[in-house]
Amino acid sequence: MEQGKVWLVGAGPGDIGLLTLKGFEVLQEAQVVVYDALVSDEIAALIPKTAKKINVGKRANNHLVKQEDTNRILLEEALAGKRVVRLKGGDPFVFGRGGEELELLVERDIPYEIVPGITSAVSVPAYAGIPVTHRDYSSSVHIITGHTRKGRESRIQYDALVKMNATLIFLMGIGVLEEICNSLMAAGMDPDTKAAVLEKGTSAKQRRVIATVGTLKIEADKAKVQTPAIIVVGEVCGLADSFAWVEKQVLSGLQIVVTRPRQKASSLTKKLRNLGAHVIEMPAISTRTLEEEEVRKTFKESIEGIRQRLERAALMEEYEKTQVDWQQQDRQLQDTQEWIVFTSPKGVESFFLLLASCQLDIRVLYCKNVSFAVIGDATRKELRNHGIEADYMPDTYCGEALGKGLIPLLSKNSNVTLYRARNGTEDICEVLSNNKVAYNDVAVYCTEYELDDELSNRVKEGIENQLIDYVTFTSASSVTAFIACQKELDYTRVNAICIGEQTAAVAKKYNMNVVVSKAATIDSMIETLEELNIGN
Ligand code: SAH
Repeated sequence: MEQGKVWLVGAGPGDIGLLTLKGFEVLQEAQVVVYDALVSDEIAALIPKTAKKINVGKRANNHLVKQEDTNRILLEEALAGKRVVRLKGGDPFVFGRGGEELELLVERDIPYEIVPGITSAVSVPAYAGIPVTHRDYSSSVHIITGHTRKGRESRIQYDALVKMNATLIFLMGIGVLEEICNSLMAAGMDPDTKAAVLEKGTSAKQRRVIATVGTLKIEADKAKVQTPAIIVVGEVCGLADSFAWVEKQVLSGLQIVVTRPRQKASSLTKKLRNLGAHVIEMPAISTRTLEEEEVRKTFKESIEGIRQRLERAALMEEYEKTQVDWQQQDRQLQDTQEWIVFTSPKGVESFFLLLASCQLDIRVLYCKNVSFAVIGDATRKELRNHGIEADYMPDTYCGEALGKGLIPLLSKNSNVTLYRARNGTEDICEVLSNNKVAYNDVAVYCTEYELDDELSNRVKEGIENQLIDYVTFTSASSVTAFIACQKELDYTRVNAICIGEQTAAVAKKYNMNVVVSKAATIDSMIETLEELNIGN
């Protein structure tokens, strides 16, 4: 058995972009992930589906998992030969009890690594526009815990702190905010010294209360501040209003769920994050190229059919050149046109994978009598990646428009072959059938639902607690997949941003609050979100 190992990883303060590269890499390889409440949903969504997830932050039977139990879990999983990631908020050694978690491992000679994280103590102020040091205001910064062990007196030396002309950062101090402020003033701090409470820093819902040591408690109460939050004391807090930057981003404040196929890196996610939104990626569907023998046989036959028809047409053309008096019948054969139709990028990808796996030569299709139709831009791009420029693409991204657009392009001797998902939607087929166009529907991939209970629950809670503002859907199947993962959810609470009417129709069927983007593109979806976020 391979020897187990533990990585003590700092997840940072919440924003996914503040997870270190090393932390990200280690997480992707994890077999067991032990995490707690401070780990954000955005980051929790990165935990591999295959990993065993152990939540030691949740109140099980109304009490937190004891530190000793966490230590023991780490040891046991490592002894079982697992790659264990202990994921902790901020930095594991800054009031993270990281040291305690290592003791048992050291004792038992279990290998481990420490991956430091960005601590909330400096990053939360930065996201609020507060530099923790500044030459004009403070020459040192102190990170202090407000939490004292039960029954013990606070060990904070307020006199010493006040003398230092420093920036003071209190973690775990919200419950004793009044005591902290009073103690500082009792030790001689000017009540007008600037101070701040920073709530849920670096998340979409971060808030700041800027006041003075004398007024901070009242102001924080007025704002109904909740945990997690840090307290910052020092003149640097006065810079927050001029340096604040997070709120200026166009999608600031938004937490968005992006549903997407697992395999696809989402350009939507990247764009949303660049504009300041927080994104929880929820791979709800996965697609798989079909490679079963039966599918390969049908696929081969379809290509062979095309090849034979093209060959006959070419022969006729040759024949025509030698005949002065050719028949009408022959001319029709010469008109043979093969339309290959793709309704998704995955269809294109699978088509070429199957060609390769059946050892078929693409050159049979490189001929003027073969035309390619695609449903939309993404599919066109995928086809382009294979060296083929699409001959037809409808203005609207939907099967019905593709079918309707295709009809006038067909002649009597046209053949249509669809390469698409097994059990794909009926829309394009209906249009073709209604217009009496015979077509060959070849399944090249299938769509499967990805169920991840932990992630689904987080998303459900986020929607119910209004921490998640929108869910984006880029296809009708992504809506159905979302529904399959969220059986218990009250769908009327979902604000759905849909890419086209067809997707919207499915979302509406489940009574979601639907907004449809003007155009059927990712950029148009983003514009829609920008418009919705104006004034917020
Ligand atoms: N190891 C962590 C701190 C753990 S102690 C770190 O380096 O950040 C927990 C305290 O951290 C909370 O009580 C709160 O004071 C602070 N904290 C952690 N994340 C925070 C966040 N996103 N916003 C505000 N405070 C946070």
